[in-house]
Amino acid sequence: MNSYENYIGGAWVPSEEVSRNVNPSDLADVIGDYAQASERDVDRAVDAARAAFPSWSMTTPQQRFDLLDRVGSDLIGRGVELGRLLAREEGKTLNEALAEVRRAGQIFKFFAGEALRSNGEIAPSIREGISVEVTREPVGVFGIITPWNFPVAIPAWKMAPALAFGNCVIFKPAEQVPASAWELVSILAEAGVPDGVVNLLMGQGNIVGEAMVETPGIDGISFTGSVSTGARIGTRCVSRGKRVQLEMGGKNPMVVLDDADLDVAADACINGAFFSTGQRCTASSRIIVVENIHDLFVEQLVRRMKSLRVGSALNELTQVGPVVDARQLEQDERYLAIAKDEGAVVYGGERVHCETDGFFLAPALVTNTTSRMRINRKEVFGPIASVIKVKNYDEALAVANDTEFGLSAGICTASLKYAAHFKRHVKAGMVMVNTATAGVDYHVPFGGRKASSFGPREQGSYAREFYTTVKTAYVNCG
Ligand code: NDP
Repeated sequence: MNSYENYIGGAWVPSEEVSRNVNPSDLADVIGDYAQASERDVDRAVDAARAAFPSWSMTTPQQRFDLLDRVGSDLIGRGVELGRLLAREEGKTLNEALAEVRRAGQIFKFFAGEALRSNGEIAPSIREGISVEVTREPVGVFGIITPWNFPVAIPAWKMAPALAFGNCVIFKPAEQVPASAWELVSILAEAGVPDGVVNLLMGQGNIVGEAMVETPGIDGISFTGSVSTGARIGTRCVSRGKRVQLEMGGKNPMVVLDDADLDVAADACINGAFFSTGQRCTASSRIIVVENIHDLFVEQLVRRMKSLRVGSALNELTQVGPVVDARQLEQDERYLAIAKDEGAVVYGGERVHCETDGFFLAPALVTNTTSRMRINRKEVFGPIASVIKVKNYDEALAVANDTEFGLSAGICTASLKYAAHFKRHVKAGMVMVNTATAGVDYHVPFGGRKASSFGPREQGSYAREFYTTVKTAYVNCG
């Protein structure tokens, strides 16, 4: 069995305990044994990162550009191999996994450019003979705590800006996806990242993650994951004076009006709800349909769902891969049972038996629901969407906003009036018109409102807000 170690201070470091990584499409397929870091390893990584920071923070933008650009090229160059590993480990389909690795490469290249574009400002002073400069400096050491659903792209969009602006990082991936994390860090190491600038700590959130939040040696935490873990991390970071950026759940609405092109709307709903096995924080989990097309549209969705091929992530014909693990599968089924208990009608949602033993679940559409039902309040995070029938646009907008979350929101309509009104009045960080709530660009901000996000936006040029600190200098030129 292959064993994989943590990366601390430029060296691969073994651990006393390991965790076995298994393919969710084929439970007999063991990917490898991965190191489990201890609290002591967190201290070692902090020491290494702090020691590396003075020299890394003073590198030229060109040096950081070269490194990040090389990492981007390596990711794209090794895309097929890494995409296969990602699909095998996380369960998204091969096509989705290949696209994710490519995206991660593009993100590194974008932030390579951001290292060069990190300009300041010169302001006229209100006083005679004084000049004012506003510049940005790196912050120090960032803890990067990531979920399992985008195991290459999310670490990329957190680590690349941290490094581009001259910070060091300590990266803790989710327990389900150490292989993708290990490969990403080995690419950074091979590309020549100086010792201590990037450290990998695979291990448990309640040990490694907790220690990263507690230690005074880490200046900020960027986290993506569940609301409960995010809230815990946020409170602790604030009380310890650390920077914190939280990307959490979604309960994203997709409104379908009666003037919409129903083929376009159905494509957007199927993609948004079920692709990536519905395991996206931007998934369209609430489909809000006006009553005069409700039955027709539900029929259309069910027809399309029946033709979706569920199966092994590595089979090129598969459109919906397995659920990531047994715990998530149990959560998905529990929410379907709760919905039925509360009076909903469920199409699909049964286990699927394939050639290999895996966590396969047929996509489920939950109809006859109201906005107050639990299926419409909690993030389920599986191939499950519910439908809410409404009278008209005004009720659709009210229902869309009737949630503690505010990440992404969509509308399908041919009306410029409704599209413009929805863009302005829906309470979400991202709005989609006639396209799925999931699927975003990497050069523009990503994030939400309400319980979905906390702190500065991720991605695009907005990322520098979190990963730099501003200095205002006054110079007496007289
Ligand atoms: P978590 O929020 O528990 O995990 C996300 C990351 O945080 C993981 O790396 C995890 O480590 C780490 N972590 C866990 N506990 C702590 C802690 N006390 N301190 C610091 N870090 C910690 O999400 P899960 O993976 O358990 O998924 C649960 C639910 O979260 C899903 O069902 C889904 O609803 C939601 N989710 C949302 C995502 C999103 O993008 N919005 C992404 C993934 C999940 P470890 O893996 O070791 O526990």
